[in-house]
Amino acid sequence: MRLVFLGPSGAGKGTQSARLIEYIGATHLSTGEILREAVRSGSEEGRQIEQFLAAGGLVPDPLIIQIFARHLAGLKADDNILFDGFPRTLPQAEALDHLLEERGTPVNGVFYIQVETEELLRRLAGRGRNDDRVDVIRHRLEVFSKQTEPLIDHYEQLGLLHVIDGVGTEDEVFARIKEGIENIRRQKAESENESS
Ligand code: AMP
Repeated sequence: MRLVFLGPSGAGKGTQSARLIEYIGATHLSTGEILREAVRSGSEEGRQIEQFLAAGGLVPDPLIIQIFARHLAGLKADDNILFDGFPRTLPQAEALDHLLEERGTPVNGVFYIQVETEELLRRLAGRGRNDDRVDVIRHRLEVFSKQTEPLIDHYEQLGLLHVIDGVGTEDEVFARIKEGIENIRRQKAESENESS
């Protein structure tokens, strides 16, 4: 299965993705993690990336698509993969569709973890990472609603969207995700039956 996690910073993607990976035995492909690791490495690419992260903006599409494609190429075609933090823009979604088409393994489902802005600000204020200053957080949320929300429509039109209420205990939220997974599995089994 190829799954996409969408949601603003603070929606709980990190926690929930860790649980989902264990549940379905998937590889985690988190662009946020990849980018932070690149910054830590101090490479030339890392220095370029650092400026975008510090400002709370997005890494430009051509650069992130290149980095993403490089990491995807390292995974086997039949691996279960959870894409976390990618795509974040329509051009990235198109790039993902294209890359997966080449591999013959399309996206099976998209989880949008939904949390109100006020609640997000409250959660992020308590996290204390150095890219979590209030002005940076606000900017990241604005970027999400401008650049990433259009993806919600995109995946809805493709019939792939699962909206998950991100408010509640970790277990409650994960139970909603599991329900989505079971639906995806059922649909997948049905369509495989039809074509055989
Ligand atoms: P995250 O941990 O997913 O919230 O990502 C942290 C930061 O990395 C984001 O605020 C962006 O600056 C950058 N980033 C992560 N994924 C992407 C992406 N797909 N496109 C552009 N920038 C990204």
